[in-house]
Amino acid sequence: MIVGIDLGTTNSLIAVWENGASRLIPNTLGEVLTPSCVSVDEDGSILVGRAARERLQTHPDRTAAVFKRYMGSDKSLRLGTREFRPEELSALILRALKEDAEAALGHPITEAIITVPAYFSDAQRKATRAAGQLAGLKVDRLLNEPTAAALAYGIHLRDTETKFLVFDLGGGTFDVSVLDLFEGVMEVRASAGDNMLGGEDFMRCLIDHFFAHNKLPASLKSDHYFMQRLAAQAEAAKRALSEHASASIRLNHNDADYTLDIDESTLERICEGLLRRLRDPVERALRDANLRTAELDNVVLAGGATRMPMVRRLVARMFGRFPACDINPDEVVALGAAVQAGLKMRDAALDEVVMTDVAPYSLGIEVAMELRDSSFSSGHFDPIIERNTPVPVSRVKRYFPVTERQKQLSLNVYQGEARMARDNIKLGCLNITLPGLARDDSGIDVRFTYDVNGLLQVAATIVKTQEAHTLVIEGNPGMLTEAEIAARFIALSELKIHPRDRIEHRTLLASAERLYQQLRGGQREWFGAQILAFEQALETQDKRQIAPVRKQFETLLNDMERDSFAVPYSDPA
Ligand code: ADP
Ligand code: MG
Repeated sequence: MIVGIDLGTTNSLIAVWENGASRLIPNTLGEVLTPSCVSVDEDGSILVGRAARERLQTHPDRTAAVFKRYMGSDKSLRLGTREFRPEELSALILRALKEDAEAALGHPITEAIITVPAYFSDAQRKATRAAGQLAGLKVDRLLNEPTAAALAYGIHLRDTETKFLVFDLGGGTFDVSVLDLFEGVMEVRASAGDNMLGGEDFMRCLIDHFFAHNKLPASLKSDHYFMQRLAAQAEAAKRALSEHASASIRLNHNDADYTLDIDESTLERICEGLLRRLRDPVERALRDANLRTAELDNVVLAGGATRMPMVRRLVARMFGRFPACDINPDEVVALGAAVQAGLKMRDAALDEVVMTDVAPYSLGIEVAMELRDSSFSSGHFDPIIERNTPVPVSRVKRYFPVTERQKQLSLNVYQGEARMARDNIKLGCLNITLPGLARDDSGIDVRFTYDVNGLLQVAATIVKTQEAHTLVIEGNPGMLTEAEIAARFIALSELKIHPRDRIEHRTLLASAERLYQQLRGGQREWFGAQILAFEQALETQDKRQIAPVRKQFETLLNDMERDSFAVPYSDPA
């Protein structure tokens, strides 16, 4: 069985294709959204999901979030005493999802379809695939997130020709894709996006506004503990504003109270810059697809941040219609990944659907341009595979060295759209020794092969000798070799994972810890005693004794959460 996984910046989900439909599988807490957070507990065991997210505030030095942004780089994150690469943290998330699904389905899971932002680079895709391997999953395919969203919607629309645009605003990434469904063939016509724009940024905007409003010194931003508490409240306020006209943030620091009362229109005003940035990728995708907004049949919303009314208004204004949101926007990508899994398993219900996808960016090499006076201008970018070419694709182009009897040649491989190579992203370099013949006899065929997973292979053949070279990506610190993956797989397998059956209680305790730190004086003392009582009940290991205490404790936490977090406020006037 192949599962579909949405490995998100903020939340991850796992789904299966079952009886002709996608089904999301809940985690041990009964939730389908598992926060993409990892924390190392005091006893050294690994916590994943909500328990880890709670610890962002109480144990920032032992907890990691939003590491998807570092996929494909060599940045490592320190949790307690151990360093983790972004692929390893992602692997821990994948492993937790895999185990949840195995428990729910009652059999082992070895294969997965994992979704990635359409704009993910080659290195980021390879890192995602490595994360799958590290989690003991064969990554059957990497699927672009908007393509998955379209697939979740598309299967219902099978018989008609439909052109739709997927507008996916998640926690940390923004993707736009224009898709065309025709006679059961779904084609991604164009995709564009912004790798550094998401719901997180709206929350940061709110934080900046809080600082300005309360005239707080910028130096306070390095106070980790203060910032984590503020972030939690800003996040809650942002969400509250998706449903209520106003919300407030209240924070105590060094015996002073800081507050912010904010309404939805103010949030929209302070986030104006972010909203503006949403327009550009939409326009670019439409331009590349050669479509006007009026020609679109449907606009599909994906990503939790599209729940914000200001985003929905912007989309409605841009397209002159209301977007489709029948499917929960934060679930649609995972549901689509499961459809792809169904396709892969050749489920009869999906007989008619075929998928094609496009390369999200141009891929090419650095060249020197010959000028009229036979001199050369170097550093230009020459695309071999153009942006939005349907994949899989293999293209070959012939090049000649600059000088007569040249002995050495460096092929620098780039991705991007800029005219000059240096303004694009360098993927790697291939050094070739030439036979040193006349220029005209020194042709080299450079072949770029881009597969359905968005992974690039570069091969260069010296025409005269038929000697072939393939690209070993050098100078790319963000990539693990197969041997490194194997070694890290073993190291990760040896990590102690928090036992699944105790995660629920552990999550409650993590929430309690966070709330405790926000209290002071008598309240703090009283609440400390409540935590202790719960811990003592847990120690009995007697389910009947634990159950009532637990229920009471949970209710208490919920009440406290409501009191101390952003709630709609009514103007005292
Ligand atoms: P990702 O794909 O990056 O994992 P999701 O699709 O799960 O992200 O979306 C997460 C983002 O959605 C977060 O920034 C979160 O704040 C935002 N979000 C979720 N629910 C709401 C809501 N009701 N109102 C505003 N933002 C929301
Ligand atoms: Mg997402």
